Amino acid sequence: MSSNNLQLLNKFREVKNLEIIENQSDVKRLSKDFYNYSPVLTEKLDGCIADLVVRPSDHNAVKQVCEICWELSIPLTLRGAGTGNYGQAVPLFKGVVMQMNRLNKIEVFDHDTGFIKVQSGCIMGDLNKQLEKYGRELRLLPSTWRTATIGGFIAGGSGGIGSIRWGFLRDPGNLIGLEAVTMNEKPELLIFDAEESEPLNHAYGTNGIITSLLLATDIKRRWYSIVIDCSEFEKTIEILKTLSCAAIDLKLGTILEEDIVDQMPIWFKGKSKSHKILIQSTFGGIKTIELICKKFKVESTLLGEEEKLVNGISEVVWNHTTLHMRSRDKNWTYLQMLLPLNNELEFINILRNKWGKKVLWHLEAVSQQGSPRLAALPVLKWNGLEELNEIMDDCKKLGAFIFNPHVLTVEGGGLGVVDADQVKAKLKFDPKGLLNPGKLEGWEIKEQFNI
Ligand SMILES: Cc1cc2nc3c(=O)[nH]c(=O)nc-3n(C[C@H](O)[C@H](O)[C@H](O)COP(=O)(O)OP(=O)(O)OC[C@H]3O[C@@H](n4cnc5c(N)ncnc54)[C@H](O)[C@@H]3O)c2cc1C
Repeated sequence: MSSNNLQLLNKFREVKNLEIIENQSDVKRLSKDFYNYSPVLTEKLDGCIADLVVRPSDHNAVKQVCEICWELSIPLTLRGAGTGNYGQAVPLFKGVVMQMNRLNKIEVFDHDTGFIKVQSGCIMGDLNKQLEKYGRELRLLPSTWRTATIGGFIAGGSGGIGSIRWGFLRDPGNLIGLEAVTMNEKPELLIFDAEESEPLNHAYGTNGIITSLLLATDIKRRWYSIVIDCSEFEKTIEILKTLSCAAIDLKLGTILEEDIVDQMPIWFKGKSKSHKILIQSTFGGIKTIELICKKFKVESTLLGEEEKLVNGISEVVWNHTTLHMRSRDKNWTYLQMLLPLNNELEFINILRNKWGKKVLWHLEAVSQQGSPRLAALPVLKWNGLEELNEIMDDCKKLGAFIFNPHVLTVEGGGLGVVDADQVKAKLKFDPKGLLNPGKLEGWEIKEQFNI
């Protein structure tokens, strides 16, 4: 161990309510996330391992960790549950990984607004259970909700189950405020309102350590799962678009093409060979869905209340579809994109003509600033970077907006442009650039922003 690391360890040992993990196999495990869905990231990240992992269980311990890292100029990378796909929680330059899962309490529920204040390390499955007491539920869930933390979702995720109604995490109205600890000589716990929270939302923990969040919630509903079988892919898109605009409550709308369905778990795919549309709606919506299916001459099957199913359809949507494909063959990887508005079918047909079964289609209905849109998480066989880039170029030329899951930076995986506010926040709250270094492209060109 280097003298710097020994000094670090000795200082951490003085901190109350801080667990220190030095065991090499644990440190290695806690330095990784699910970046192995991308062969590009796997090559870059496999050797990135922290020196130490710490787990604070209160704000004071968080502040003291920051103070020590500042004093010794040691990088600090935050981790929730480590389910991110972009290597977001992987320490590129060694240093310390701080896992936030011990800060997991629900602080306050506001009955008038339905807002919940919760510590960032709370697991979303647990949070949703607690919200039930108040007749509420989370608006948005990643398909990893059983294990992922709410802080990791805000800092690293984008949307998921619920996006058909509530859009994406960064849409105004979903995140109401947050509290975060700064990384400077005297770390402080600051309170941010909705506007001030924006630069920390989806910043991969590069500009502050989120300790708690104030989130809008939805009325708790009983969601029913319905599977629609359809032999023509073209029709699935028409049906999903019709359902998305119907006057019914929806939590989920997914299309899986037949070749994907074929590789899903046996309990889901059943015997029929067809494309499938997966819907979650309330009891009141079922008759309308059946009517729409009748008009399109397709069969629907009501599986029952999602929460009561042994295997719910939430297990095969969003990136869980890719998970199941990869459990069959590790050569499957994926892309994420917003499809061109009103031109989805033509887009997919052109790509199908060129790429055939090398690209298989998985679509998710989402709301973008209130308008129904289709997002896609197509799965593709890994055939090298050149082919991946060619597929992405084709998608872009045809009008799709790619959220590239094969890059390490906030900008690369998100909007593709530097967000000056994120960089400004980093200068203010992490002036030495110690938080998750290497993940915010804008930091490398901060001088350009005249901050
Ligand atoms: C099979 C599969 C399915 C998925 N489905 C979805 C999906 O539907 N939608 C979606 O958006 N994502 C999805 N993901 C990605 C990921 O699971 C989610 O985004 C999840 O919410 C991340 O939470 P986490 O606790 O695991 O965060 P982590 O992976 O631990 O961290 C994510 C990022 O947040 C930062 N961070 C963590 N805690 C804090 C904190 N307290 N303060 C500041 N920064 C912090 C980390 O440094 C990292 O950059 C999926 C991943 C897999 C493997």
